[in-house]
Amino acid sequence: MPIKVELIPVLEDNYIPIIIAENGNCLIVDPALAKPVDDFVNQNGLKPIGILNTHHHWDHTDGIEGLKSKYKIEVFGPKYDLYRVPSITNPLVNGDKLDLLNCTFEILEVPGHTLGHIVYYVKSENLAFVGDTLFAMGCGRLFEGSPEQMYKSLNQLVLWPDSTTIYCAHEYTESNGQFALSMEPDNTDLQLRMKQVEQIRSKGRPTIPTQMGVEKRTNPFLRVHSTEIKRNLGLSPETSNEATFTALRHAKDQF
Ligand code: ZN
Ligand code: FE
Repeated sequence: MPIKVELIPVLEDNYIPIIIAENGNCLIVDPALAKPVDDFVNQNGLKPIGILNTHHHWDHTDGIEGLKSKYKIEVFGPKYDLYRVPSITNPLVNGDKLDLLNCTFEILEVPGHTLGHIVYYVKSENLAFVGDTLFAMGCGRLFEGSPEQMYKSLNQLVLWPDSTTIYCAHEYTESNGQFALSMEPDNTDLQLRMKQVEQIRSKGRPTIPTQMGVEKRTNPFLRVHSTEIKRNLGLSPETSNEATFTALRHAKDQF
C-alpha cells in the first residue's frame, strides 16, 4: 500500500487525517490547528507537501495559514469557498483530479453542510475524506444547504464500494448511534455496532475511520428507505425517501 493515514485528535472532537506516503511525504486534511500537526510531522520525520481542505468552517481551516507559511505548501480547497478561505492556492471543482503521493484524488462537490463542501476520493486505495458531510452513523448539520441538497450529496457517496474506508472529521459516533437506535431499535447490525462503539470509546480510542458498507447498514441517513425509520418519524410507509431524509435531519437537530 503506497499510502497510509494517521489521525491527530484535536479540540473537543476533531480529527486531522495525515495521509503519508512511503517516502515520508504527507498531505494534511482540514487542519483545525497548526501546532499539533507540526509536532506530529517533526516526531515522525515527515515532509508536508500540501493541505486538503473540505470546507470553510474554522475547525477545518484555522491551522492552514501557519502550516502553509512554514512549509511553503499548496492548499487545495473548494473554489466556492475562495472568498472565505483566502489561503487556498489551488481551487477545486466537481470532477477535478489531483495527482498527489502517487495517487489520484477525485473531487466531488457535496453541498449540504455548507454550500462549498467538497470531498476527496482515492479510488485506487478505497479511501475517502469526507469532512463534515458523512459521519459514522450520522451526517453533517445543514448550516447552508437544503435537505434536498444533502440528500443528493449523500446519494453520490453511497455509489462508492462498500469496502471504501471513510475518514470524517469528528468523533460524533456515540451520540449519533444513540439517535440511530431511537429511529431503528430493531436493527441488529446497529445494536451490535453500538456495543462495539461503546467499548472503543470507553478506552478513549477513535471510532474513525468507518466503512461505507457498515454505514449503509447502520447510518439512518443512508437508510431513509427503512419503514421502521419512517414509522418512528410518524410518517406513512409511502413517504418519499427525500421527505423522510428531511424529517430525519430535523428530528436529529431536536434530539
Ligand atoms: Zn463544518
Ligand atoms: Fe467540523
